[in-house]
Amino acid sequence: MDTKKINLAEQQMPSQWYNIVADMPNKPLPPLNPVTKKPVTQEELSTIFAEEVVKQELSTERYIDIPDEVREIYKIWRPTPLVRATGLEKALDTPAKIYFKNESVSPAGSHKPNTAVPQAYYNYKQGIRRLTTETGAGQWGASLAFAARHYGLDLQVFMVRVSYDQKPYRRLMMQTWGAACTASPSTLTAAGRATLERDPQCSGSLGLAISEAVEMALQHPEDTRYCLGSVLNHVLLHQTIIGQEAVLQMEMAEATPDVVIGCFGGGSNFAGLAFPFLGKNFREGHNMRIVAVEPASCPKLTRGTFQYDLGDVAGFTPLLPMYTLGHDFQPSDIHAGGLRYHGAGSIVSQLLKDGMIEAQAVHQTETLAAGILFAKTEGIIPAPESTHAIAAAVNEALKAKEAGEERTILFNLSGHGLNDLSAYEQYLAGSLRDYTPSDSEIAATVNLLEKII
Ligand SMILES: *Cc1c(COP(=O)(O)O)cnc(C)c1O
Repeated sequence: MDTKKINLAEQQMPSQWYNIVADMPNKPLPPLNPVTKKPVTQEELSTIFAEEVVKQELSTERYIDIPDEVREIYKIWRPTPLVRATGLEKALDTPAKIYFKNESVSPAGSHKPNTAVPQAYYNYKQGIRRLTTETGAGQWGASLAFAARHYGLDLQVFMVRVSYDQKPYRRLMMQTWGAACTASPSTLTAAGRATLERDPQCSGSLGLAISEAVEMALQHPEDTRYCLGSVLNHVLLHQTIIGQEAVLQMEMAEATPDVVIGCFGGGSNFAGLAFPFLGKNFREGHNMRIVAVEPASCPKLTRGTFQYDLGDVAGFTPLLPMYTLGHDFQPSDIHAGGLRYHGAGSIVSQLLKDGMIEAQAVHQTETLAAGILFAKTEGIIPAPESTHAIAAAVNEALKAKEAGEERTILFNLSGHGLNDLSAYEQYLAGSLRDYTPSDSEIAATVNLLEKII
């Protein structure tokens, strides 16, 4: 009988995260203070984020030790299985070998706790007692709620009003883990109160929720800090636990991927799986293809501009060099909520600019069809975000069939979709539509950006 799951023992869990900046031929351009346009300092960032997290954000060390106290919590669900998608291979009748890393087995159901846990830990070590953050559909808020609980930290989540009302289950996950989850706009902050005064029925936005979370952290510098769940370098760093494990597991399977695939929102699950393999390309002369897959409705990698832009809609994070659609770009209301971010983060953007990675855009009807095929053949109902990686893996497997080649494909299953079944409901009812923004729509928000490079 062939092996289906390649598992690592707990003792084999990697003890270091991998920082790809150390091996990049061209380092990313520095983050800039949005007011002075000068590179941000450690001190400036430390008013918002924990000090250790800021050090990691600016680090060029190749490996960074994972604290024992973090590995202890990781053990709740890590190491995660590497799975051979034998059912999917059979359905596609492909000579390709398809593997996926199953990050859906975490308590929150996605990869996000991989960074939520260390972020909560470094804040706790610094004597911080309360965290703040924002959340859209709730994946990040739920993951940070789980992590904060383990170090006895309070957490205030600002959840965009419309999601708060329409998506109660992740709010209930946050509350079960003991976090306070408030609809944004709220009366807890000046930004929220001002908005409610103008429009008491305001349904909120991610930008406003960020403003509220950062305002609350800045008001209590003695014991409160803010956390972000994607885009920034330290988030990508923490996620490399995925690829560090997968490298070992692929060796156990005696296989080398020809192509490594991840879906792309702000880049954290993609980077988490792909960077340890890309590092092998840089250091050991491998030539693995590394592919990021974004929604065609929010195509910053394939149709955006390389430019300095704000990391968040509200302008609290530094200006980052990124492929962007402009921070005012309003993505259409596609279901893969976690992939609706306007930009890409400085490391991934530099790698794409230098041709070290590839980007593809796919439509949601195609991705959900691939997700349903995956559910039928592998059993797991994938997160709508993850179906983008599955669709790309299916295309690669079909190309291998056409070429009659036994290629090896590895993709990241970033999460399960059990809290997102409404996307499947719409697909099955035939009411899901694809959307492609026009060139002029993209130009309108890109042209608003100040030209810094
Ligand atoms: C948040 C999320 C994403 C997108 O975020 P990245 O930072 O690009 O990884 C993808 N998949 C799932 C399941 C998510 O929850």
